[in-house]
Amino acid sequence: MKHIVVLMDGAADEPILKLGNMTPLEYAHTPNIDMLAPYSQIGRVKTIPEGCAKGSDTANLSVLGYNPKEFYFGRSPLEALSMGVSLKETDVTFRTNVVTLSEEEAYENKIILDHSADEISTEEARELIEAVQKELGDKVRTFYPGVSYRHLLVWDKGSTEVNLIPPHDILDQRIAAYKPQGAGSDLIWEMMKKSYNVLNNHPINEARRKKGLKPANSIWIWGEGTKPMLPLFEEKYDVKGAVISAVDLIKGIGIGAGMTSIDVEGATGNVHTNYKGKADAAIKWLIDEDKDFVYVHLEGPDECGHRNELDNKIKAIEYIDQKIIKPIIDALENRSIPYKMLVVPDHPTPLRLRTHTGDPVPFMIYESGSKLVNKDNRYTENFAGSTDYYIEEGHTLMDVFLSK
Ligand SMILES: [Zn+2]
Repeated sequence: MKHIVVLMDGAADEPILKLGNMTPLEYAHTPNIDMLAPYSQIGRVKTIPEGCAKGSDTANLSVLGYNPKEFYFGRSPLEALSMGVSLKETDVTFRTNVVTLSEEEAYENKIILDHSADEISTEEARELIEAVQKELGDKVRTFYPGVSYRHLLVWDKGSTEVNLIPPHDILDQRIAAYKPQGAGSDLIWEMMKKSYNVLNNHPINEARRKKGLKPANSIWIWGEGTKPMLPLFEEKYDVKGAVISAVDLIKGIGIGAGMTSIDVEGATGNVHTNYKGKADAAIKWLIDEDKDFVYVHLEGPDECGHRNELDNKIKAIEYIDQKIIKPIIDALENRSIPYKMLVVPDHPTPLRLRTHTGDPVPFMIYESGSKLVNKDNRYTENFAGSTDYYIEEGHTLMDVFLSK
């Protein structure tokens, strides 16, 4: 039996007046989901336990069968794993942005102008982080370049008893009010301060200024975490699994769980991702490589929710139906290979709120060759809510899905 999870990040939403009080999931033209629904189990699942951060990391951990209350290590160690950095148990990891600070004032009084330095290119940022590593790195503290403005500091026996502020939360404010607090915070502040001297007049930044781009003239350290110690997915469920995602956090969870993370060229994490590449990679993993489980993660609906882009959110859901679900089921049906498919968002990202909520999400489990369950079944928030099938502990959904 092949198992496919189609994870529609942030797809669940609220009824929208403009759509005749339908949700984007309800309104979207999804002939393939509609075809499977009458033969499927449909219900709701609460993926984010009360009191947990409403993030894609906690929610995807939950869908993959790990209780986020028990297995949550912060975002930076998951990003570290997706970057291929292996961690020791004593390592503490920190997200390290390259940011743009105002230039006139003393460091304390500077204003944070951009948490991404105009979404600096990976190549430029790499040189800058290498310069930071040369000046500030040592055997205990190592800076690793990542993608665009997102980098990593690994600090052996670093402190997790810190209070560090995400830079995107304090845009256009003076940084003095957001100095790191707690054990080890003086050293973190010191590194941030020194990085300005390394970066502000770096040739990369001089060249950026000439092009009218913001300089990446300081690092900003936040998002502390420790090595994720997840029980292996394969040992837990006795299947060989892969994750296919454009998002570092999701790749990191997969790698942390001992799964294969398949990189797909042109996978962007937005509505115009390389759907075909992702579907092909899933089919290859299941059929050519004869493995059992694949987790195809699509970030598009979430991104559109954050941006309040109604039409694109609908489109993202339609693309998943047509360009992910259809080719995968066709490939398996054509070869008469038995399979189960779970379609589920990790959490709602309502357009109205432009952020995640912890409300239950609708799920659908289809098994090939199933008899009709209910001809009126529909895969929508509303229909799922009308059934009495409700899974309160989100991490047990995977047990249900992978049960024989
Ligand atoms: Zn998410």
